[in-house]
Amino acid sequence: MEVKSAEFVMSNSAVDKCPNQPLPEYAFIGRSNVGKSSLINMLVQRKSLAKTSGRPGKTQLINHFVINKNWFLVDLPGYGYARVSKKSKKTFQKFITEYFEKRKQLVLAFVLVDIRHEPQPIDLEFMAYLGNQQIPFHIIFTKADKLKPKACLLAVEKYREKMLEFWEEMPQHFVTSSAHSTGREELLQYIAQLNEDFHQD
Ligand code: GDP
Repeated sequence: MEVKSAEFVMSNSAVDKCPNQPLPEYAFIGRSNVGKSSLINMLVQRKSLAKTSGRPGKTQLINHFVINKNWFLVDLPGYGYARVSKKSKKTFQKFITEYFEKRKQLVLAFVLVDIRHEPQPIDLEFMAYLGNQQIPFHIIFTKADKLKPKACLLAVEKYREKMLEFWEEMPQHFVTSSAHSTGREELLQYIAQLNEDFHQD
């Protein structure tokens, strides 16, 4: 897929205020600092469409972007940031869970994980939540340039082993690097295919 246009639509904290055009939508979510903004900017080839917030955990909003005027890319707040208060964690949970449970046009969520890290409880819990809600998700491994190719394979294998403790199979996954644009074509191609299916239904 060629990205011809990528425009910011709106930020908000309530699912019922999200844009109502019936376009297929993909949500990107992960721990703060996982490389989500970098990945989004790499995908759409804009330097700073998704803003890397100075203080992670501060900008807790649902951010909609429209790509090629035919699908929504949603940048969700990073989770697991230690410095946010309990109260804002709760608020966060509420609007994120509402988003996932109510957003009808959501095709799937991409859960981002840093390829260098062992599976983290917070990510596994979040994926378990998505599974319980029957919300389809895929995994995007980020920062692959930080490891040698062999170490990347090994890391994915380790992740698979951990996932198989809870899941029947390893979810579909992509290995990416925003620094080297690794995985860009594969991911965009994949989304293009899902968009076609969405419009045919
Ligand atoms: P976010 O908080 O998840 O949006 O993460 P950012 O996109 O702001 O990235 C967090 C840090 O990781 C920044 O210092 C980025 O430069 C760095 N980073 C993100 N993606 C990559 C990548 O693919 N390779 C490398 N080497 N660093 C990355």
